[in-house]
Amino acid sequence: MSLSPIGIFGGTFDPIHFGHLRLAEEMADALHLSQVRFMPAGQPPHRAAPRTAAHHRTAMVQRAIAGNPRFVLDTRELEKPTPSYTVETLEALRAEFGEAQPLFLLLGADAFLGLPGWHRWQSLFTLAQLAVASRPGAALSVDTLTEPLRGEVMKQTTTQAVRFLDMTPLTISATLIRAQLAHNRSARYLLPDPVRAYIDEHQLYPSS
Ligand code: ATP
Ligand code: MG
Repeated sequence: MSLSPIGIFGGTFDPIHFGHLRLAEEMADALHLSQVRFMPAGQPPHRAAPRTAAHHRTAMVQRAIAGNPRFVLDTRELEKPTPSYTVETLEALRAEFGEAQPLFLLLGADAFLGLPGWHRWQSLFTLAQLAVASRPGAALSVDTLTEPLRGEVMKQTTTQAVRFLDMTPLTISATLIRAQLAHNRSARYLLPDPVRAYIDEHQLYPSS
């Protein structure tokens, strides 16, 4: 019996929006994932700390994925006092699910292009397959990659190691949503209503 693959989707989710949700849904379809594990980052090592407390970002993910049977919240990175390195998270998942379990690390194109800045990034390729979703503004194909990423992708022995997949192009970003709200403009239809309600209730991104 072959195990159906699991997707791992990390992010700051500050806040989670329809770009994230479509990526997860479309990758789940394309790769036949039995589940996508949404993993809010604690202290991301490669970027500024999210300004929104982890419990709020978690609550927003919870509200966003409620009712989707394939989507699961995984808070393991938040439970660590130290920076959350994706490579260590994957090692833990690998130990938990076993060698036979197909794992896909889901990444938007911009995150993938930044991979060489990540802790022990080459090891990521040995722990999971990578599924990279197109993101407007971040060009994608092996030919357009620059070193050292290109070399690492070329080194993989199977073409399945790194999958480049198209998704519905959505230029939504959390940065855009924070900016809209900071200017007192509506973020409606950029993210799920229950997430918007949570933001309002807790005044997470007050207008300046
Ligand atoms: P910020 O603007 O604060 O950086 P973000 O919208 O980029 O937030 P992140 O939490 O940084 O969200 O991203 C988590 C993952 O989701 C990354 O792999 C990123 O590439 C991907 N992603 C986010 N938005 C989109 C989108 N609109 N289309 C495709 N991928 C996306
Ligand atoms: Mg981002």
